[in-house]
Amino acid sequence: MGHIYLTRPLGDVVEQFRQQLPAQLRVHHTSEFPPDRTELLEAVRGAGAIISLVTDRIDAEVLDAAGDQLKVVANVAVGYDNIDLDAAAERNVTVTNTPGVLDDAVADLTLALLLATTRRVAEGDRFIRTGTEWIWSPEGYVGLDVSAGATLGIVGLGRIGMAVAKRAQAFGMNIVATGRRAHDDDARSFGVRPASSMHELLRVADIVSLHCPLTPETKHLIGAEQLASMKPGSYLINTARGPLVDEEALADALDSGHLSGAGLDVHEFEPQTNSRLRTMEQVVMLPHIGSAGDATRNEMAALAFRNTIAVLSGEQPLTPVE
Ligand code: NAP
Repeated sequence: MGHIYLTRPLGDVVEQFRQQLPAQLRVHHTSEFPPDRTELLEAVRGAGAIISLVTDRIDAEVLDAAGDQLKVVANVAVGYDNIDLDAAAERNVTVTNTPGVLDDAVADLTLALLLATTRRVAEGDRFIRTGTEWIWSPEGYVGLDVSAGATLGIVGLGRIGMAVAKRAQAFGMNIVATGRRAHDDDARSFGVRPASSMHELLRVADIVSLHCPLTPETKHLIGAEQLASMKPGSYLINTARGPLVDEEALADALDSGHLSGAGLDVHEFEPQTNSRLRTMEQVVMLPHIGSAGDATRNEMAALAFRNTIAVLSGEQPLTPVE
């Protein structure tokens, strides 16, 4: 059957599943860094299953290095842009992901970034830490009132986008969204208005938040032209995938003052971050921690293990990528 290769230690959840696994589990030696390419190609040799993370590029070369007995690649993420799906399908390898279990965690972080950016939380924190003398001022760190009828534009009203809409409704925001589900009853119950087009969403939103997958079609979904269409003084939030945004164009839009700020959990050339954006006070940048709630991370890992066990046992996986 071949071993199960897990590309990082994932804490206690590994021990919970170890006894139930139908094959030997081999785990990469450290959670700090992923296996490098040579280590990955070597470690997958003879594997029946690979449990991968977003940092692992699983392409034809890796699948071939594993060999014919490889049955499943279980990604510990809902996004699967790190996996070559065509190459997997050609080799009859099932790919699974972890949809649903991380919606709340990512939506929470989206709101955290939205508030941190519009209300200048990180900027204020950095200022306090300088030890500079200060006193309350009527103009000090004034930002956008999100609860006073600001409009949130959700690009991709899927599982996470919907969880963001639910929260934004509680804040009293107007919500406009793209995606098929923008016409659903759920969306209506959260006060979502379907956008007539992406262009309309960009034009009316005070804050644009991205929640669509990274695909060849969505790379640079937000480039110079889209940024120019955005409302003057608006904000961009990205907790989806870095390459959705052309970061140099974003830096230009922020430099010119056309955009007031940006909150980025993910980065175009991760783990590298844009040196211009890093110097901007109006930008909040996080190290890709959207799903980083303790229980959420455990549920993601558990779902990846369940998918692996199902496929290796000849059953249907719980959450295949289709
Ligand atoms: P989902 O339920 O599949 O929703 C995706 C949404 O994107 C849908 O509304 C879909 O519209 C829309 N969409 C698909 N293709 C598009 C395109 N070409 N242009 C514009 N919109 C498009 O996915 P989800 O579970 O909410 O996850 C969304 C993304 O969040 C993931 O793909 C992942 O990259 C990212 N994510 C990031 C983190 C993090 O740590 N920061 C954690 C989890 C997920 P239709 O319904 O009309 O197809």
